[in-house]
Amino acid sequence: MTPSRARRESKRARKRRTNEILERLAEEYPNARCALAHRSPLELLVATILSAQCTDKRVNEVTPNLFARYPDAEAYASASADELEEMIRSTGFFRNKARSLRGLGQALVESHAGKVPKTMAELVALPGVGRKTANVVLGNAFGIDEGIVVDTHVGRLSRRLALTAEKDPVRVEKDLVELVPRSHWTLWAHLLIDHGRRVCKARRPECAACVLATLCPSAEI
Ligand code: SF4
Repeated sequence: MTPSRARRESKRARKRRTNEILERLAEEYPNARCALAHRSPLELLVATILSAQCTDKRVNEVTPNLFARYPDAEAYASASADELEEMIRSTGFFRNKARSLRGLGQALVESHAGKVPKTMAELVALPGVGRKTANVVLGNAFGIDEGIVVDTHVGRLSRRLALTAEKDPVRVEKDLVELVPRSHWTLWAHLLIDHGRRVCKARRPECAACVLATLCPSAEI
């Protein structure tokens, strides 16, 4: 796939290419899944909020103690700001994140009987929860393919693969939902994140070793 061919590509052909990309990546990463350790929707919601500007590895180091100390929404609602901040300090932006977690606990207790809601509208109305976090929770905790998570890897790879020209994550998502089959929306993000971490890295993509090279207009080989 050359850049000029990608520019002339019809929507139908792009959909077919997207499916091929999906198949190849699914074969390459059969265990692709959410990297944030969690046992419940609340734990995933908290871990996703903590993962902003932080690695999943660091979040997974912090959450075992955090989840033991704050087992439910009530616990976050009544948490001491100082103690909570101290527990999540290493994830960065800890004051804002602690404020979000306490507000989240309060909102869940007040409006949702302490449970995490299952709709996009209710989720994005919670403190500290944007569309990306809501998509993570809906897709991975509830198995609902409501949208596509667009993080830095998904955005970068989708542009390199000429599936979008957009930079804004919401617009990238809009382009992707037109191309990726709905039943694979959650998986798509996991696959692109794995591929972005291992092969299609930000600075030096390893195109010579990439299973998508023949489908990618950005391939440098
Ligand atoms: S061919 Fe290169 S730019 Fe394209 S997806 Fe693979 S590593 Fe990324």
